[in-house]
Amino acid sequence: MTKFEIPTEQWAQVVEKSGGPVVYKKIPVPKPGPDEVLVNVKFSGVCHTDLHAMMGDWPLATKMPLVGGHEGAGVVVAKGELVRDIEIGDHAGIKWINGTCLACTFCMQADEPLCPHALLSGYTVDGSFQQYAVAKAAHVARIPKECDLAAVAPVLCAGITVYKGLKESGARPGQTVAIVGAGGGLGSMAVQYARAMGLHVIGIDGGAEKGDSCRALGAGAYVDFTTSKDLVAEVKAASGDGLGPHAVLLLAVSEKPFQQATEYVRSRGIVVCIGMPANAYFRAPVFDTVVRMITIKGSYVGNRQDTQEAIDFFRRGLVKAPFKTVGLSELKDVYHLMEEGKIVGRYVVDTSR
Ligand code: NAD
Ligand code: ZN
Ligand code: ZN
Repeated sequence: MTKFEIPTEQWAQVVEKSGGPVVYKKIPVPKPGPDEVLVNVKFSGVCHTDLHAMMGDWPLATKMPLVGGHEGAGVVVAKGELVRDIEIGDHAGIKWINGTCLACTFCMQADEPLCPHALLSGYTVDGSFQQYAVAKAAHVARIPKECDLAAVAPVLCAGITVYKGLKESGARPGQTVAIVGAGGGLGSMAVQYARAMGLHVIGIDGGAEKGDSCRALGAGAYVDFTTSKDLVAEVKAASGDGLGPHAVLLLAVSEKPFQQATEYVRSRGIVVCIGMPANAYFRAPVFDTVVRMITIKGSYVGNRQDTQEAIDFFRRGLVKAPFKTVGLSELKDVYHLMEEGKIVGRYVVDTSR
């Protein structure tokens, strides 16, 4: 077994007050508890959730000061004495669910994201925007050695979340799914998982660059919300028979598309809410929801099985979403681009610079 030199100090991006900014500085390297591992994070994807956490967008408090990040791919360099099923040197992923109790009724039924005692990476505990991060051994993602650590990082939140969301949508091979926010981090992954699952994809986002990206990843149609004169009609028309998509995945960080989805979804269709814009409400006409038998539901990350399945799609080459790599020191610039909605795909930070 390789022995790793673990420094006492490391580089991290720290949020010191709600609203930001992030401060790039040296902090101590944490020590794993008996049931935890220490992961030397090599690459971490930047999720819009990290920006929501810094801005205090949600009705759930973060720890403070906070190290964000929950798409951290790296190497296990230390472990607690109770950890048996993962070895030093193995590749592992720090994901949003950092740990859960494994004893409550939700955990017992593999619904661990619903655990009332869940620890959340980069939110209630420090996450992956540091060189060394701690997580419960039971919950770190197992990453096969053949997977490139930078490319697999976005799977650890974006991939797992949209893969689970597509399962929750009930869409079957041959049916059509509308992906709202299809050019963003989650969206780019969703287009590919949907294709790999045999679904037709209608991508909805803003701008020509995102349209090109959606089509290149396999969307059969693209509707630009910034230029469309009648988005509802265009989405329905793109669904082949004109009756609308069988399912809608709402990934956008904006409230309006949440109000539109029930207008274009097919009768008996399922609308899955995943994006969480600040202070947003879901509004749907009761009459249509009833007489067209529409289902509206939420979907929240995924469990450990979803995690391994989502990674396996990546390992088999079925999903390969676009990403750009920058240094961890440049996280602030990534947040600026994200605020402006200018990111196509995902940014991944390299913790060595
Ligand atoms: P992102 O910024 O990369 O992508 C959001 C996309 O939405 C952008 O491409 C933007 O152009 C697009 N958009 C904005 N307004 C739109 C509109 N009116 N119609 C269509 N598209 C529109 O963000 P991301 O990292 O992909 O995260 C998306 C959201 O999902 C965030 O709110 C994040 O917190 C949330 N999220 C939820 C879960 C979960 O488990 N439910 C997990 C991860 C992220
Ligand atoms: Zn995320
Ligand atoms: Zn639990």
